[in-house]
Amino acid sequence: MNYLMLILAAASLASLLALHITCRQENEKTAMRRSAWAAIIVPTIFIVLIVLPLPAVVLSVFVSFIGAVGLILIIPTGKSQGFPKHQPQGRIDERTIMFSRAALKPESENFEKYYELHPEHRQFDDRFRRLPGLMSPKSGKFEPLSFAAAAASFETVEQLASLIDGPVESEPRNIPPEQATRFVKGWLKKLGAVSSGVTLLKDEHLYTVKGRGEKWGQPINLKHRFAIAFSVEMDHRQLGTAPNGPTLMESAEQYLNAGAMAVQVAVFIRKMGWAAEAHIDANYKVICPLVGRDAGLGEIGRMGLLMTPELGPRVRLGVITTDLSLIPDKPGYDPSVLHFCSLCRKCADICPPGAISHQPREMHEGSLRWKIDSEACFTYWCATGTDCGQCMKVCPYSHPDTMIHSWVRWGIRNSFIFRHFALRMDDWLYGRKPEPMAPASWIPSRR
Ligand code: SF4
Ligand code: SF4
Repeated sequence: MNYLMLILAAASLASLLALHITCRQENEKTAMRRSAWAAIIVPTIFIVLIVLPLPAVVLSVFVSFIGAVGLILIIPTGKSQGFPKHQPQGRIDERTIMFSRAALKPESENFEKYYELHPEHRQFDDRFRRLPGLMSPKSGKFEPLSFAAAAASFETVEQLASLIDGPVESEPRNIPPEQATRFVKGWLKKLGAVSSGVTLLKDEHLYTVKGRGEKWGQPINLKHRFAIAFSVEMDHRQLGTAPNGPTLMESAEQYLNAGAMAVQVAVFIRKMGWAAEAHIDANYKVICPLVGRDAGLGEIGRMGLLMTPELGPRVRLGVITTDLSLIPDKPGYDPSVLHFCSLCRKCADICPPGAISHQPREMHEGSLRWKIDSEACFTYWCATGTDCGQCMKVCPYSHPDTMIHSWVRWGIRNSFIFRHFALRMDDWLYGRKPEPMAPASWIPSRR
């Protein structure tokens, strides 16, 4: 029995040291401290139990207990009842989303028209308009370098707008759909996508009416047959600084990366003789998380973002719609994510203005989902000057795609008991409401 106890002591030491090294690499200070203590305390308990003159039966019961707990955690009990798949039944008017409302110029024709249509939004919107605003030097988290870097990325995205759509440049070349799909996905991966997928373009993916730019108020009638969705990673450390400037800088940078990739692929498809349109920051005709889910990239979680299996919500999405024939992927539906979100609520707890619901999914605009209070969220952004990102930062799915976190993600998919365990561990290791991380040394810190 003592040998078994020694093996357990060695195994616990090795795994806790591996955890500590992972936390160190991820610059997670609280987790580093806690995992170091655990790596001292847990193996010591085993050694003390070996040294103490305990009857063999006590050690047997102890070892059996440890074995039973380990087994219970890995037995597949993954099926989560009570989290049915739900497709949205209707479409959304892009004019009603916060970015469109924020882009309205007071006293302009569109401004007056919008609040005639939606007088119920006027009071909320007047509130955020009284605040300094996103990227404002007067905002609470202003820091000149990261704010200017974010503005530079957003301005560069704007330059891509002229390429999002355009005439096809040749007679259509017939490429077998398998080959076309493989090529587009392979190229996206090479360009930096973490994942990509294809879906048939559905009515509910589209906004009803354009809410931004020159085409404000025009109905959206996009007839492309397919949509390609892909994700790009947001840097873990920069997001860890949320709600400070480096998070905004990272968001803008990944909007730019996703936008550039989407535009490149759309131009390529048009050169092959098929209609294609890129959907990029400030120029969306589609709701990216819905397209991403139907293209098999993940499931939509409590904060309304797409939760990818690799990086959770710590991604930005890009979409290209096209008539090029492609092979659709199996739509994403992961009840384990929905179950985990129903237990977790970590994003809801940290959200400063309380914009994320603590309640179960409810029907909103024909869709069973968690709906965030986008007015409260955006108003907070207008005070801080950044796009906050604290919900994304604390999400247990947002950890880097390392061996340890992949193993935890597997456990979460595999077992509903493991989900409870993983959540407790995440809270203990990282804290329920962690402080912002320090940014990389070349970025000025404002904590
Ligand atoms: S923080 Fe928790 S509740 Fe929120 S999206 Fe992530 S897993 Fe779901
Ligand atoms: S970005 Fe910030 S304010 Fe908005 S929902 Fe997330 S935590 Fe809340």
